[in-house]
Amino acid sequence: MIVVMRRDAKEQDIEHMVRQVESLGLKPTVLRGTERTVIAAIGDERAAAAIGVLESGAGVDEVLPVLAPYKLASLETKAEPTVVRAGSLTVGGGHLGVIAGPCSVESEEQIIATARAVKAAGATALRGGAYKPRTSPYSFQGLKEKGLQFLALARAETGLAVVTEVVAAEDIEIVAMYADVLQIGARNMQNYRLLEAVGRSHLPTLLKRGPSATIDELLLAAEYILDAGNQQVMLCERGIRTYEAHTRFTLPLATVPYLHLKTHLPVVVDPSHGTGHSPLVPAMARAAVAAGADGLIIEVHPNPEKALSDGYQSLTPEQFADTMAGCRKVADAMGIKM
Ligand code: PEP
Ligand code: MN
Repeated sequence: MIVVMRRDAKEQDIEHMVRQVESLGLKPTVLRGTERTVIAAIGDERAAAAIGVLESGAGVDEVLPVLAPYKLASLETKAEPTVVRAGSLTVGGGHLGVIAGPCSVESEEQIIATARAVKAAGATALRGGAYKPRTSPYSFQGLKEKGLQFLALARAETGLAVVTEVVAAEDIEIVAMYADVLQIGARNMQNYRLLEAVGRSHLPTLLKRGPSATIDELLLAAEYILDAGNQQVMLCERGIRTYEAHTRFTLPLATVPYLHLKTHLPVVVDPSHGTGHSPLVPAMARAAVAAGADGLIIEVHPNPEKALSDGYQSLTPEQFADTMAGCRKVADAMGIKM
């Protein structure tokens, strides 16, 4: 349930209610909005009898049950959109963030050339995998720490925030030394120990939807990160597996407005993995902006034919610049900052 504090509630009222929630055996999370503060009280639903105890607290406006299975991610708990900020990247609240770069970091030259090109075209963050979760153990697995160091050089060179994947809890410490945003890949969406560990890291996180996960499962995965104390979470629709084989995955853009009805967390769309074919990426990127996406993540490679992973879905820098120009027209028409 949530304890909605009155606009004029004092700091000591909030602190008192936090202690009250704890004394009922529930876990309090304080969510401060510009209008008012709410305290999410998470725990055994049978404690619902506690509503009366909480309602009588000083500074309390009302106590409401949260009906959605996900509590902290729900719009019922926090009506204001969450804005995720990491250096040059702002996602949500009317700001469209654009994360672009290669699937994998391959060399210093490759990542720096890509970073310069995507920045010139208007990207606000650089992506690049240093630890790659590959379907085959024989495929390129990433440059690991060397790749992270190249990403940090690219950030120093361009000022772009770095978004990179962490595939295992034991790698968080090292990835967090270099990254501005931790990406949790589709294959790891339900790796609950990894989600908890990323939650404890407090670094902004991009959580990708598993190819066979429902939207409720995606939101419950986000809940693990939020519940561990990290409120800076972006959800990413990257396509799901269906019977259709003409694209690598099926990219359901209705996810975007649906999530906006259910959660305050910003929604990023990945048209690269969502389609798996570079000629389809520009149109789906524009469509994602039109659907109200708060961000895009797009694969760009200086020479896609030579890419060590996902070359067939990577845009050249020129194609990326054209894609950005198209997206900007849509964003302008919708009054979205890009
Ligand atoms: C990626 O972003 O390169 C990636 C591996 O994506 P996903 O986890 O969505 O497959
Ligand atoms: Mn990829």
